[in-house]
Amino acid sequence: MDRKKRIALYGGTFDPVHLGHLEVARGVSRLFEIDELWFVVAQLAPHKLTLAVTPALHRYAMLALATQDDPRLLISTFELEAAGRCYTVDTLVHFKSALGESADLFFVMGADSWSEVGTWRDCDRLLEMVNHIIVSRPRYNLGVDHIAPALAARIVDLRGSGQASPLSHFGEGEKIFITDAVMTDVSATDIRRAVRENSGELSDMVSPPVAAYIRKYKLYRDTNER
Ligand code: ATP
Repeated sequence: MDRKKRIALYGGTFDPVHLGHLEVARGVSRLFEIDELWFVVAQLAPHKLTLAVTPALHRYAMLALATQDDPRLLISTFELEAAGRCYTVDTLVHFKSALGESADLFFVMGADSWSEVGTWRDCDRLLEMVNHIIVSRPRYNLGVDHIAPALAARIVDLRGSGQASPLSHFGEGEKIFITDAVMTDVSATDIRRAVRENSGELSDMVSPPVAAYIRKYKLYRDTNER
């Protein structure tokens, strides 16, 4: 390979990992020619502290099942192993210093996370530290007004360009790419609700081994989530 390795980090609770996550991971990897995409499993998303979240081991196991056939999709336990609460900015600092100049780093998030990113710890710092890939999501607007002007100047809006390669935009400095190349209407909330209410077809929302795992370990049956 005569270019730097491209590594993407995809943070989330993954409770459970679903077809939307997998479409995002595969679509973004294809479009940006990512060599490794790491799902970074969150201990507890700071904004979800009030909700019951499935134990990390189950969430990790489902990710392992969902990604087992794809050598480029990997799982990081960095946040699970952190001593205290771990924020996205801490994870980015860790990966950036571990990788140094050996790789270009991308952080992937969906439109809903993007709309909340202003509330994340050290938002401006985390946005300028690595490249970001913001992915459209049905039912969510994807605006840019909440971002400081200096950061907004880094935005490369690829919406409407279909599967056209973004690689010509790579170069000096970190960018914030916005893409609508992936559009899958699945959420973990919908899945937990479908299991709880015994409605909807699980296999339309998660990969087959994940559906089997959810049934086997009777996950999501008694959550008191609305
Ligand atoms: P929940 O319904 O519990 O909030 P979720 O489906 O949003 O869960 P998370 O684990 O919270 O899943 O999401 C991890 C990341 O993946 C976030 O950046 C989120 O925006 C993104 N994401 C999740 N589902 C999709 C989707 N269908 N399309 C695009 N991005 C998505």
